Amino acid sequence: MRETIVLGAGMVGVSTALALQARGHAVTLVDRRGAGEETSHGNAGIIQAEAAEPYAIPRDVKTLMRYALGRSNDVTYDLASMARMLPALASYFRFSAPAKHHEIAKTYAQLIARSTSTHEPLIQASGADNLIRRDGFAMVLRDDAEFEASAREAERLKTLYGIQSQTFDGASYRREEPALITPIGGAVVWPNTWTCSDPGGLTKAYAQLFEKQGGRFLTGDASSLKQTSAGRAGGGSAWQVDTEEGPITATDAVIALGPWAPELLKRFGYGVKMVLKRGYHGHFQASLSPRRPFLDKTNSVVLSPMTNGLRMTSGAALVAQNAPSNPVQLDRAISNVREILDIGAPTQDAIWVGHRPCLPDMLPLAGRAPKHDGLWFHFGHGHQGFTLGPATSDVLLDAMDGRTDAITTALDPRYRSAILSW
Ligand SMILES: Cc1cc2nc3c(=O)[nH]c(=O)nc-3n(C[C@H](O)[C@H](O)[C@H](O)COP(=O)(O)OP(=O)(O)OC[C@H]3O[C@@H](n4cnc5c(N)ncnc54)[C@H](O)[C@@H]3O)c2cc1C
Repeated sequence: MRETIVLGAGMVGVSTALALQARGHAVTLVDRRGAGEETSHGNAGIIQAEAAEPYAIPRDVKTLMRYALGRSNDVTYDLASMARMLPALASYFRFSAPAKHHEIAKTYAQLIARSTSTHEPLIQASGADNLIRRDGFAMVLRDDAEFEASAREAERLKTLYGIQSQTFDGASYRREEPALITPIGGAVVWPNTWTCSDPGGLTKAYAQLFEKQGGRFLTGDASSLKQTSAGRAGGGSAWQVDTEEGPITATDAVIALGPWAPELLKRFGYGVKMVLKRGYHGHFQASLSPRRPFLDKTNSVVLSPMTNGLRMTSGAALVAQNAPSNPVQLDRAISNVREILDIGAPTQDAIWVGHRPCLPDMLPLAGRAPKHDGLWFHFGHGHQGFTLGPATSDVLLDAMDGRTDAITTALDPRYRSAILSW
C-alpha cells in the first residue's frame, strides 16, 4: 500500500487526504492547527459553480487609476508590499491579457463545472448537509446601469460556458429578499451555486470523515519536512516530518499549505510566484439575515449568513502576509451596507484576516514536483479553493496514478515555468 503524508489540513489538504484514501493510500494528514482553521475557515463559504472564469487583473486604465488612487473598495495596497510582489504581479498582469485569460478560463471552467458534484458525496458521507444551502448566490446591484452591465455579463457567461443565471429588477428582487430595506437597481442570481453556513465546520466534517475511515490526522510542523533514505526497505527515498507522535515517514508527500507553500518550498530550491490577496471578515447580529448570501458589488463585500452571525468578507488587500491587521475595506463598507441591510451590531468575534493564495496564471498547481521524487504540489487555488478542493484533488490523484489528459497537463507544475522556478 502506498503511504502518503499530506501537509496542510485546509479544504485542499483534507480533500486530498480523502481522495488518496479513496484510491487505497495509507494517509497521514499533518497540520500545526486543527482542520479548516485558516483560509478555509475565513472565506465567504460560496461553492462557486458560477465562477467559470478566474479573477484577472483589470487592464483598463480607468479601473487601474481607481485602484491607484484608492478610490475602489475592491483592491487596496501598500506600496512596499506591492514592490516585493512586483514580479508576481507583472506576471499576473501578463496572464490577464484577454486572449490568455480566455485560454486559461477554458480549463478553469471545466474544474468549476466539477465543483458541486465533487463536494456532494463528501457532504453526504460526512453528514454535513445541514451546513449547505442550494438556493443560489446573488449579486445585488445598486443602480440601473450596474444592473444592466451585470445582466449582460451574466448572458456572456451563459453563452460561453452554459452558466445559468436569473435576473431580477429592483422591485422583484426586494420581494424575493425581504431583508433588503431600500430600493436597488436589480440583482443577478446564480441558482446553481451552493453556499455554506460554516466553511471551517465543513472542512472539519470532511476531516472527521477521513479519520472515521481510518485516516490519521496528526499535529506537526511542515517546516520540518525532509527527504530521507533512512530505514526504507530497498533503499528508496522517503519523506519525513516531525509530529506530536515523533517523526513519521512515507514514500510520498503532498504540499497543500495554501498561502504558506512558497515559504516551505524555498528550502527545496523552488521559487513560487504567488500574489497573496488579503481578505478580512467580521460578523454582525442582523435581526433579519438575507435568505441567500450576496455580493454588494458597489462595496465589494459579500454578506453571508453563517452559524455565528452575518459574515461580511472584504475584497483584496495587497499587503505582506505578516502586515498588521488594517480592515479598512470592511470599515468603509459597513455604513454603506447599512443603507440596504440592517446588519445590526458587530458580534464579539475578532476581525479575521487571511490570504487568498493566487498564482499569476490563475490555475492551481496539482501534480509532481519537478525535481523531487515522491513530492507533489497541490496549492494556489486563489479565490476559489473552498470551491475547488475536491475537484482538483481528483486531478492530483490522476497525476499520481500516471494518467495524463488536458487538465492534468494544465495543472502540472513541470509545465508551469512562468510561475515556478527550480
Ligand atoms: C476573504 C476571503 C473570502 C473567500 N471566499 C471564498 C469563497 O466564497 N469560495 C471559495 O471557493 N474560496 C474563497 N476564498 C478562497 C479560499 O478560502 C482559499 O482558496 C482556500 O481556503 C485555500 O485552501 P487551502 O487548503 O489551500 O489553504 P488553508 O485553508 O489556508 O490551509 C492551509 C493549511 O496549512 C497549514 N499550515 C501552514 N503552515 C504550516 C506548517 N508550517 N506546519 C503545519 N501546517 C501548516 C495551516 O494551518 C492551514 O490549515 C476566500 C478567501 C478569502 C481570504
